[in-house]
Amino acid sequence: MTDFPKPCRYVVSACLAGTPCRYDGRSNLRPEIAALVESGEAVPVCPEVLGGLPTPRTPSERRGERVVSAEGDDVTGEFSAGAEAALYIAEECGCSAAVLKARSPSCGCGRIYDGTFTHTLVDGDGLFAALLRKKGFQLFTEETFSAEKA
Ligand code: SF4
Repeated sequence: MTDFPKPCRYVVSACLAGTPCRYDGRSNLRPEIAALVESGEAVPVCPEVLGGLPTPRTPSERRGERVVSAEGDDVTGEFSAGAEAALYIAEECGCSAAVLKARSPSCGCGRIYDGTFTHTLVDGDGLFAALLRKKGFQLFTEETFSAEKA
């Protein structure tokens, strides 16, 4: 079994730490999040990659309890498996808080796209964020985290 660094306060979206794991093969680098990983205070995870999806990949959105790609494929299984795998890593590392990419169907917390691919936001969480919320993690997006640290 893999050994993970402990204790590590934050689990963070890997794309915020500079990993090019977004659907379009780019990252969402936020230097303050990359610094948390470098100092050993955060562990990066990408639930969609952990769920076996390739990079780049067709973008997806939550549609109720399901996750569907822009091409109409049901990818709920991959997203769910990835969220569980990422949660396992977060718990193994002793994390109690998360900094997650806003509006993602996996990582978004509080506001996500509505499944119509029309850039329409609704209240809700991505699959990974929802699992972390159920487990009592303190949740930030990169936007609320930066505002709190400012
Ligand atoms: S699943 Fe999360 S970590 Fe992976 S690219 Fe999407 S927002 Fe970033």
